[in-house]
Amino acid sequence: MRILLLTISFNLMCLLCSAQKNVDSLKHFYTSKIETLLDKEKALQPYYTINDSGIFINAKTKENTFYREFGVEWSKLDTVKKMLNHFNDDSLLAVINSGKTFSTLGYSETNRKQYIENNKKLSGIKIAIDPGHIAGDMKTAMLEKKYIQFNYNNQSIAIVEGVLTLQTALILKHRLEEQGAKVMLTREKPNQTAFGITFKEWLEKKFKNAVDSSCKLNEINEQEKTFLLTKATQREMFRTYFNNLDMRQRAKKINEFAPDLSVIIHYNVDEKNTEWKKPTEKNYNMVFTAGSFLKAELEKPIDRLSFFRLLLTDDTEQSTKLAENLINSFTGKLNVPPADSTVADYLTKYCIAESKGVYARNLTLTRLVKGVVIYGETLYQDNTAECIQLSKLNTEVYGIKTSARVRQVAEAYYEGIISYLKK
Ligand SMILES: [Zn+2]
Repeated sequence: MRILLLTISFNLMCLLCSAQKNVDSLKHFYTSKIETLLDKEKALQPYYTINDSGIFINAKTKENTFYREFGVEWSKLDTVKKMLNHFNDDSLLAVINSGKTFSTLGYSETNRKQYIENNKKLSGIKIAIDPGHIAGDMKTAMLEKKYIQFNYNNQSIAIVEGVLTLQTALILKHRLEEQGAKVMLTREKPNQTAFGITFKEWLEKKFKNAVDSSCKLNEINEQEKTFLLTKATQREMFRTYFNNLDMRQRAKKINEFAPDLSVIIHYNVDEKNTEWKKPTEKNYNMVFTAGSFLKAELEKPIDRLSFFRLLLTDDTEQSTKLAENLINSFTGKLNVPPADSTVADYLTKYCIAESKGVYARNLTLTRLVKGVVIYGETLYQDNTAECIQLSKLNTEVYGIKTSARVRQVAEAYYEGIISYLKK
């Protein structure tokens, strides 16, 4: 009898001991993920608690004290992980605001299968593509300040980034669809915003209501509202207000589509060549993933929810894998090296380096888009060779007149995505 009791208590001890070991390793894993990937300035410690019970997010009061806002116990970790990607942020925030736990959402599991048939078949794979910016002409490009215009080697160079990104996205869409993928673009036409209309149409039809509702939601104050409605120039309306709404609309569209992966397409410039009135010799590629929150970037509930999701899920880890495949493809196909962190101040100030050319950065879209998402910045448009290449309309593919260089960029995205999915 005594031996039996001893055996039972020994087994119980082993069990408790291994449970504690498990909790210790979870605590270690999530703490080190925050330190290495999410907290750029090592200043976010008051916003989270990781202890023997679970992971908890804290909010700040007006008096600068912190209180527990929401979180997850270790025993419910796996379910809550899945819920964060399954439900939209509005539903999740409603649960947080009501003081309830995520389990009240009544999640039941559905398996979304990802597979590749044969060599390159992408049937069953859903891919979202966001062509960065809006402009389809120089006038709109000047409004969003995303263009290159100067004379070089007796040639007048005029490049609109929104045109390059849309052409790249459309070619990539065709390439992926040929292999059976289902592809969604956040905007499909020149000058089209994520709301499906031009900025000018949006100003006429939606601007006033949008400002009113932003004010009601405390996203802007009365003073900002009055400024926008009475004094702001179109450029100020665009840059201080509309741009953010357009970004959120892009994220909303992508999340509703629930893709297996999302690709945000941009073309870069040399940061140190400011005003971009002359060409630069420099040329690099870089890819951003989510993470690297700065110290003032957990003030809003939606930001704390995004932080929590990025911490719990393996979205960032998967995104890094996609990013690494893409940067390799960009390097090889475009013959342009990956950026190291010395090439631009924003890489040291705002980013956490993950590997050569791959950086965690807390951009609106890397933060709000759920699942696997990368933000590509290929080539410097103001580079001496690229500015000439990118200005030419010297090829046509799928009925799209474009530069042969843009076609190569689309192909590089395609190859990078395929090599990621194959693994
Ligand atoms: Zn851009």
